[in-house]
Amino acid sequence: MSTTFQPVLDRIATEIDATPGRGRPADYIPALASADPNRFAMAVADLDGTVCGVGEWQHPFSTQSITKAFTLALALSLEGDELWEHVGREPSGNPFNSLVQLEYENGIPRNPFINAGALVVTDRLQKLTGDASGALRTFLRAESGNPELTFDLEIAASEAAHGDRNAALAHFMASYGNITNPVPELLDQYIRQCSIAASCGDLALAAGFLARHGIRADGSTLLTRSRAKQVNAVMLTCGTYDAAGDFAHRVGLPGKSGVGGGIIAVVPGHCTICVWSPGLDQRGNSVAGVAALDRFTTLTGLSIF
Ligand code: GLU
Repeated sequence: MSTTFQPVLDRIATEIDATPGRGRPADYIPALASADPNRFAMAVADLDGTVCGVGEWQHPFSTQSITKAFTLALALSLEGDELWEHVGREPSGNPFNSLVQLEYENGIPRNPFINAGALVVTDRLQKLTGDASGALRTFLRAESGNPELTFDLEIAASEAAHGDRNAALAHFMASYGNITNPVPELLDQYIRQCSIAASCGDLALAAGFLARHGIRADGSTLLTRSRAKQVNAVMLTCGTYDAAGDFAHRVGLPGKSGVGGGIIAVVPGHCTICVWSPGLDQRGNSVAGVAALDRFTTLTGLSIF
């Protein structure tokens, strides 16, 4: 089925190529700052794992916060509803690395996709597996079929050298008893998680369980249908920083973006999409990435609405 998406992807790439204004790469992690905003890739995987793509769709990029969708799914699969006692599921209306809300809300972050919430999810996964980032890498390798997929230790070191904000968030939540592992160990796991490099093809395949209502590539169950729905719902409402309303308005799909310029999106029951272009808008989403997904749902008519 996915071969039918190739003409759409080719058309989108041509349109994107002709559109000026690509935003700017993230510069608060120095190793990301030199990325060329003119780079572009997009891939679609259908339910049986057939992939098609355009541009540099097999080239690995820095996944960053895209990994938060996968760690949420893994933690939910192991811990179930108890996870929601440690992290909420409401949009925050604040920047992804904000501290202010945490004090008012007693160290329980609003949702799993702001940094505070993602730190809590990684903390839970670390408690449950003893190696959260390793468990994530194993899962992504299995679902993508790419045994080379791994951490980018240069990016990890660059982020670790500029990690005061995340350290502050983790220590602050630990003071409320909402972090169980030692903070330095948690930060190391979180930074390794965010440093994973993967291609659009890899990520479109790896997110397939979200389109298959919780079923992994090998046919086993990661999440019940209801929990897969929960992850998609949080992606729709909280997955694209504090622009989730605008993303839903333009694209109409659950999505999760990262400051590396990637975005994954899910059409439940149909396919998964990953797009990458490193230039970001003011709220941290890839300019060309959002535009490409907007065109994809417009041209194909595939949306959850
Ligand atoms: N590792 C990045 C951070 O914690 C991820 C940010 C993102 O992609 O939203 O700041």
